[in-house]
Amino acid sequence: MPLQFDAPRRGKPPRHWADLAPDERRAAVTDAGLPAFRASQFDKQYYGHANTDPTTWTDLPASLRGDVASRFFPPLLTPVREQTADEGTTVKTLWRLHDGALVESVLMEYGVPGKRSSGSGRHRATLCVSSQAGCGMACPFCATGQGGLQRNLSTAEIVAQVVAASARVRLTNIVFMGMGEPMANYRAVMGAVRRMVDDLGLSARGITVSTVGLVPRIEQLATEGLPLTLAVSLHAPDDELRDTLVPINTRFPLAEVVEAAHAYFRTTGRRVSIEYALIRDVNDQAWRADALADLLTGAGRGAHWVHVNPIPLNPTPGSKWTASRRGDEAEFVRRLNARGIAATIRDTRGREIDGACGQLAAKER
Ligand code: SAH
Repeated sequence: MPLQFDAPRRGKPPRHWADLAPDERRAAVTDAGLPAFRASQFDKQYYGHANTDPTTWTDLPASLRGDVASRFFPPLLTPVREQTADEGTTVKTLWRLHDGALVESVLMEYGVPGKRSSGSGRHRATLCVSSQAGCGMACPFCATGQGGLQRNLSTAEIVAQVVAASARVRLTNIVFMGMGEPMANYRAVMGAVRRMVDDLGLSARGITVSTVGLVPRIEQLATEGLPLTLAVSLHAPDDELRDTLVPINTRFPLAEVVEAAHAYFRTTGRRVSIEYALIRDVNDQAWRADALADLLTGAGRGAHWVHVNPIPLNPTPGSKWTASRRGDEAEFVRRLNARGIAATIRDTRGREIDGACGQLAAKER
């Protein structure tokens, strides 16, 4: 797969209320000949109650409902299929977009009383959202990366995934770890982040933007004035190997990616997450754990600016690679910890429904 930065031109999704910033919403209602107060009424229904269908809004005169629906709330996501795992606490939804493109989102609840597979601790609910249909970054171990990029999602198409999940459960976290490279769709992603924070009331700290390491966009993210969590998909501590696992590394090599990530920490005070899929006998050797520690702590950066999340590889169909042995996994973590680096193995929810990290490919099966 070659790297792809520009999405093929396709029909734009219809403009939706969730594409609009607050001032644009007020302008849009007055342009439509409606009094300005309708804007806050729409916000309350859509964001406050996660009610996406104006024809059911009883606080709106019946004669207006159809017009409001078609003008501001065109349906963006149609559910195609839903699969659950982990006693119903992991839910993967396949969505069809207006042009037939398919994307997935995964809702994961933690600490649900009586549901052992949801884990313990306080109740949390994380939604893993897609930012693109497909992905152009071509990472060979990732299911989405194998299919190439279809198109960028609009801000509203991203927000709509969050609103749909909000109708089921009170979300505490959002991770941009579904399909796509969020930094390659920066404007739409930041628009969606603003809606999540300003309109849905989610904490910026609870929103994680995960990237292959598009350095200029990491630098830009640091200027947004939002305490978002940055996750960088490293997967290798040496350029030779990373060039093959994360092909964009040939353009933005490790030294630059790590420096940009550390600059993000310096600017925002936010600890950076490092994603590392452990692939048996490929990137999981003890010496690579040491090399990763050297890389992260190099240039006087110290150990406290990062949290490493090793995750056992979820082999994609036909993959020549498989997950690391348990023992190698533990040794990898031990070596990072020995250097003062926080590292916790990430659990993989929803494996059996292909809802786990890197498995989202949205094939209609
Ligand atoms: N494009 C972004 C976000 C999407 S993927 C990024 O690459 O960061 C979210 C995470 O899942 C990334 O860290 C990605 O490398 C990882 N991932 C992809 N395929 C995987 C697989 N088969 N097993 C485990 N993790 C995988």
